[in-house]
Amino acid sequence: MKKILIADDNRQIRLLVNVALRNGGYEIIEAEDGEDTLEKAVAQRPDLILLDVTMPKLDGFEVLRFLRKRPETTDCHVVMLTTAAQRRDVERARQEGAEDYITKPFEAHELREAVERLLS
Ligand SMILES: [Mg+2]
Repeated sequence: MKKILIADDNRQIRLLVNVALRNGGYEIIEAEDGEDTLEKAVAQRPDLILLDVTMPKLDGFEVLRFLRKRPETTDCHVVMLTTAAQRRDVERARQEGAEDYITKPFEAHELREAVERLLS
């Protein structure tokens, strides 16, 4: 079973992502700040991380940079969760190793498709 880490400090967003991926046959784990995300990513080795940009402790870009440096997580798929205002940051995220991005608010099907594309 593929493992997905939902990293977002907003509980409501984590819930929406859970609903979108329900029935996908994924194991879902959650993190609520940047440090929590790094710890869980290294310890639990998810196949894919949905990574919020704006989070307490470490932001999504800082997390991404650490993930790419650590051997345990360097190959993990990363999809950034951004707001429309952060769209110009996406190019930077791609340069640092994110493979895709989802703009909040998102439709359940677009999230599902982005995940399926990377995990199939
Ligand atoms: Mg946030």
